[in-house]
Amino acid sequence: MDGLVAEKESGKRQWLYPLIRKGPYYKWRSWISYFYLILFFSTPFMRINGQPVLLLNVVDRQFVLLGQVFWPQDIFLFMLASLVFLVCIVLFTIAFGRIFCGWICPQTIFMEMVFRKIEVWIEGDAKKRKKLDAAPWDKEKIIKKSAKHVIFIAFSFLIANTFLAYIIGSESLIKIITEPVTAHLIGFASIWVFTGVFYTVYSRVREQVCTLFCPYGRLQGVMIDQHTLVVAYDDVRGEPRGKLDRKADLLQNIKGDCVDCGLCVDVCPTGIDIRKGTQLECINCTACIDVCNEVMDKIHKPHNLIGFFSENMIHAKEKPSFTGRMMAYSAVITVLIGVLCYFIFSRSDMDITVMRTAGLLYQEQPGGKISNIYNAEIINKTNKSQSITLIPEDPAVKIKYIQAPVNIAYGGSIKTVFFVVMPASRIHSAKTDVRLQLISNHKIIQTISTTFVGPIND
Ligand code: SF4
Ligand code: SF4
Repeated sequence: MDGLVAEKESGKRQWLYPLIRKGPYYKWRSWISYFYLILFFSTPFMRINGQPVLLLNVVDRQFVLLGQVFWPQDIFLFMLASLVFLVCIVLFTIAFGRIFCGWICPQTIFMEMVFRKIEVWIEGDAKKRKKLDAAPWDKEKIIKKSAKHVIFIAFSFLIANTFLAYIIGSESLIKIITEPVTAHLIGFASIWVFTGVFYTVYSRVREQVCTLFCPYGRLQGVMIDQHTLVVAYDDVRGEPRGKLDRKADLLQNIKGDCVDCGLCVDVCPTGIDIRKGTQLECINCTACIDVCNEVMDKIHKPHNLIGFFSENMIHAKEKPSFTGRMMAYSAVITVLIGVLCYFIFSRSDMDITVMRTAGLLYQEQPGGKISNIYNAEIINKTNKSQSITLIPEDPAVKIKYIQAPVNIAYGGSIKTVFFVVMPASRIHSAKTDVRLQLISNHKIIQTISTTFVGPIND
C-alpha cells in the first residue's frame, strides 16, 4: 500500500488490479453484457427487407436504421434522434447518475466483461496479477503475457472488423477479407488501425478512458444533485469506521458498520474509495455494493452500507423523489420523441430536387410556346426499385425530356434533364410558379414547386 501511495504522490499512473467478486449485481451485468455482445457482433449481418438493421456509412453518406434507408437529405432526422438520445442520457443521469457507464457503455462492457475476464482467466485474480507483473521475465510470465496479448489482439481484431462493418456494411467487409489485399488497401489498413486503437485502449489505457477522456464523465458534476440516485456509501451508518474486534463487544457498539476492510476499494475498476463521497471517477458499476454486501453478511449486518442512494436519502432520510427538473426533462423528451416520430412517419419514399439550369433564361418554341430547361435529382429511399415519371399539375404545361428518368434502383438516385414547355399566354409575370407531380406506380409521391421564367405577356 505504501508503494501505491508513493506512486500516487509522484504523479505516476497507478496501475490497477481490481479484485473480481461475482455478486448479484455482477451477475446481472454479465447477463446484460452477453446480450449486448451478441447484439453488437450480429447486428451488422442482420437484414430487414434486404437492408442492414444498422449502417452508419459516413463515407458514402448513407445511413440505414431498422431497414429504412436515410440519405443526407434526412440528416436532420439523425440529428434529432441524437438530440433525443442526449436528452435521455441527461435525464437518466439526473435520476440515476452515471449508471449508463457501468452497465451499458461499450468501453466498460468490453473492458470489464471481455478483456478483464480474459486477463483473470490467464493471470489469476488481483494478487496473482500484481505478483506476475512484479516478477522477472521467466518462462511462466512470458507464456502468460504472450497468451494474454495474443488473445487481446485477436479480440481487438474481431471488434475492429465488426466496427468497420457498421460503417461500410458487412458485404464490403467480407470483400476486404476474402479478396486480395491490393484490391482493398484502405479497408485493410483501416481494420489494422482500428485493431491497434482497440488493443491499446483495452490493454493500456483502460479506466483512463472513463476517468480522463470521456466528456460524459466530466459533465456528471453539473448533472447530478442531492436527489440523484448514485452508488454511495451511507456514512451515517458506516462511520466511525473501524476494524471489527470480536473480543471487544463494547467497543464495537460505538463503531459504525464499516469494518474498514478496504474491499470496496480493491474491487473498484477505477481505483477510488467510494467512502470519500461521490466522485467523477465512479462509473456506478456496483462492484463495491456486491463486495460490501458480502462483508455485511459475514458480520451479520444489513445489506446496502454501500448502495443506490441520493444524498438526501442518506442525510435527510428522504425517499427517492421525482423532482421538477426530472419532470421538465421528461416533458422535453416526450415532445422530442413526438416530433421525431412525426418526421419519420411522414417521410416520403422518394425525394426530388428540381433546379432551373443556371445561366439560361427561356427559349421560344414554335406554336407560341416558351420553355425552360431543368435539372432534377430523384432519390429512391425505399428498398425496392421504382419506375417514376414527372407530370405537370397544369395540363396545358408539358414536359419534354432530354434525359428521361427510368427505373431507380433501390437506395439509388438518378439525374434527369427536361424542358418545361408552357403556352406564352399563361405567362403574366417574369416568374411563374410551376407545380410538378412525381408519380410512381400510378401514385403521386410528391408535388414540388419551381419557377418558370418567360417574357411578360401584356
Ligand atoms: S467493503 Fe464495506 S465494510 Fe469494507 S471498507 Fe468498504 S464500506 Fe467498509
Ligand atoms: S466506486 Fe463502486 S460503483 Fe463506483 S466505480 Fe468503484 S466499484 Fe464501481
